[in-house]
Amino acid sequence: MVSKGLQVSFEKDKCIITAGPTLVATANQVGDLYLLDVMNETLSAHVVTLQTLHERMAHVNVQGIASMIHNNVVSGINVRQSDVITAIYPTSDNHSFICPACVFGKATRSVIPKQRSSSRAQNCLDLVHSDVCGPLEVQSVGSSRYFITFVDDHSTWVVVYTMRNKSEAKAHLELNGTQHQLTTAYNPEQKGVAERLNRTLIDFVRSMLSHKQVSKRFWAEALATSIYVRNRVTSRALPVNTTPHHIWMNSTPNVGHLRVFGSKCWYTLPKLELRKLDLRAREAMFLGYSQCSRAYKLWDGELNKIVVSRDVKFDESTCGMHDIPAHESDSTNSDDDVGEVSEEVLENDGARSVSENDDDEDDVPPPVETPNVTAPTPTPAVRRSSRVSRPPASWWRSNFAAALLSHAHIAIEGSKTFKQATNGPRAAFWQTGIDKELSSQTKNRTWKLVPRSEASNIFTSR
Ligand SMILES: [Zn+2]
Repeated sequence: MVSKGLQVSFEKDKCIITAGPTLVATANQVGDLYLLDVMNETLSAHVVTLQTLHERMAHVNVQGIASMIHNNVVSGINVRQSDVITAIYPTSDNHSFICPACVFGKATRSVIPKQRSSSRAQNCLDLVHSDVCGPLEVQSVGSSRYFITFVDDHSTWVVVYTMRNKSEAKAHLELNGTQHQLTTAYNPEQKGVAERLNRTLIDFVRSMLSHKQVSKRFWAEALATSIYVRNRVTSRALPVNTTPHHIWMNSTPNVGHLRVFGSKCWYTLPKLELRKLDLRAREAMFLGYSQCSRAYKLWDGELNKIVVSRDVKFDESTCGMHDIPAHESDSTNSDDDVGEVSEEVLENDGARSVSENDDDEDDVPPPVETPNVTAPTPTPAVRRSSRVSRPPASWWRSNFAAALLSHAHIAIEGSKTFKQATNGPRAAFWQTGIDKELSSQTKNRTWKLVPRSEASNIFTSR
């Protein structure tokens, strides 16, 4: 690189590659190696503006974003150093950054929210705050009108469930043996966390929908995306230059794969399904990040379904949804059900992962000590917000992970059994995949078929 005229410098845990004053790439130290921050189809050499980052990061405060970049709190992005400095130290000439979506949504919030007066819980999941919000004026594409957020007090990591009825929240908590401790009316400190968060999240959702004129029925996707971002930005409730991701995932969040919600995009179709003259890609609207398959969630308006794909090209300057179906109603008190929306996961040969190595959403959260169980305290006067004490460590951990996997309550299209797969409309596609997998197993001598023995215990397997 040096012979090509680039400058390479090493700092603590980081390598910086520049061409004169221009930042070309960064690399983070992992063990004895430096991993280049290279994301998806774009190389990290691609420099983005702070405004684009502001739009990608659910409209959080530009100064806060610049500060996170300056302090290496997040990785995977390249912004001009001069832009970062200008944003952190604005002068009267350059502080005029106005985002219309933020004006409409009233959502310009500091990355670092107001400092809380009480101390944090000692460990992850010692204390979880929760609050239900709704009904929203329109049903989401998954037919939800409510959502419930859970905020881990120690890490401030947030997960959300969307719900069709408010009663689902109570049933959900009771089913899992959670002690539901209602907040006393005389203790405002208790009620704050989750309720304030929900208000903030709704502001973000409003701005995100407004920015690309996305239909309100995608509120659940905007909400999930705003939480995905929020878990990756600094918080004053946490130590300086720390994000919930640092504590919950024990790693620096990589934000290089973030894209602007509601943008137009194109996803590549699986080769197996295509004939020679078929188009290789379909147009869609970007809806967020699939937690289970490290891919992007997209809305294919023509097919009226959510598609999950890893191989996506974006035009972040353009709105994805230019034609809203006539049957949709965004009016207040609409009871129209837009119907079950299916979700299709596309796997493409050679498709690259959305996330970098250090963005391990699928990882099990860091181990936590089993907390003391708080006995439920009867309270005479209650408010809407609730404070939840967690009894079994395993339940919350597994359910937080489950929430990450399915926060939009979207019906998964796809075959559950071999019979369904081979008799469905995509039978040929499945059969090709099955044959390919079987021949690979045989080729690699993964197993050998033997006659069943009466003397052996037979275990079932997937
Ligand atoms: Zn904005």
